[in-house]
Amino acid sequence: MEKRLIIVLLVGLLAVTAALAPAAPAAAAPPTQTAEVYVVQAGDTLSSIAWRFGVTVDDMLVANGLTDADLILTGQQLVIPIASSPDEPGITPGENETASGSQEFSQVYVVQPGDTLFAIATQFGLTVSEVMLANGITDPHWLSVGQLLTIPPAGLPPSYPAPFAAVLLSPAPVVQGQTLVVRVDLDEPAALSGEFDGRPFRFVGDRTGGWALVGIHALQPTGVYSLTLRASRSDETQATAIVDVAVGSGLFDTEYISVPPDQGDLLDPDLIRDEYARVADVWSQVSPRPLWEGPFALPLATDRITSYFGTRRSYNEGPVSSFHAGVDFGESEGSPIYAPAAGRVAFAEFLDVRGGSTLIDHGVGIYSGYWHQSQILVQPEQTVETGDLIGFVGGTGLSTAPHLHWEVRVAGIAVDPIQWTKMAIP
Ligand SMILES: [Zn+2]
Repeated sequence: MEKRLIIVLLVGLLAVTAALAPAAPAAAAPPTQTAEVYVVQAGDTLSSIAWRFGVTVDDMLVANGLTDADLILTGQQLVIPIASSPDEPGITPGENETASGSQEFSQVYVVQPGDTLFAIATQFGLTVSEVMLANGITDPHWLSVGQLLTIPPAGLPPSYPAPFAAVLLSPAPVVQGQTLVVRVDLDEPAALSGEFDGRPFRFVGDRTGGWALVGIHALQPTGVYSLTLRASRSDETQATAIVDVAVGSGLFDTEYISVPPDQGDLLDPDLIRDEYARVADVWSQVSPRPLWEGPFALPLATDRITSYFGTRRSYNEGPVSSFHAGVDFGESEGSPIYAPAAGRVAFAEFLDVRGGSTLIDHGVGIYSGYWHQSQILVQPEQTVETGDLIGFVGGTGLSTAPHLHWEVRVAGIAVDPIQWTKMAIP
């Protein structure tokens, strides 16, 4: 259920600010059940929140998949269903509408009993595949009551200045810790470059277009950011398109970790910083061509994850100052580790914090890392293919039990590796 909530924050807009699209003809009035999100404050009760928004406690329970009205936590995000009023059936809040009444932004729909994906899509003037795409749904029969769906704007083809023919962002909306794929088609030959929130990113492709990967930092504050695209023609003229990207919450948990006293000295900040600088120096090198193809495989013969990416962390009851930059697989010492995708080994060494460490360069600034190995079977510069044995699980370095810590970096930004196993990027 919690994962479903992610969608909400996405209030998701891909509005083009460079050139506002002309208002499309008004579609039939969009139906009911759009929702907003409320963050629980200290002292709130479910009934006080329900009262404030003019909905019932039961509505709140259903919309949030809750079973116990007493179980809400400060900071928790709750969906506020829009109370259906007999007088104004199905009117959505005005702030998301353009003058002509068409939706410019995504909205959130709460699945009702009896709904089908086809019925929902039709209500909003969309196709089933548009709704599936916006929600990462692969099986159209998989819907549950209370589930939240992102409803993308209908009938508003974005327009971009020439020579931009098309700009496609996926996943859209994006959440903290995900890898954002930017695809651009051009009408006339030009060189592409881009920036997200002030950070430049590179395109792979030719002068008719290309794709780029942007790592969304796990601690990136939620909100709307500008993604700037530049097309430089050979006559030195340049066109700029600015796309707004809404970054939603990854809804990460917090873990409280105790480090045994004899490992306490490994938390020395200087040591941590120096070691980080060594590995960061490796993953900041960008090799020119992508070496992988298709979705990544899992690096182990298990999918038992013991700690997810992005989890906020507090060590020895200290402040929550860091997040988990990869996923941990709890697996016994000596279990084989396989390359999840093709690449070139860029680093293979034993380190104090990370233990037996390997970094694979997959090209164009994409790296995967394997920490705490008991044994490393590869050497720098060696090329690997998907499924190649590269090492064995261990508990070396700063580790309380044998496990594999697996991470993926996009231009140095740690992103959720599991996304890479679920979809072919780009
Ligand atoms: Zn880990």
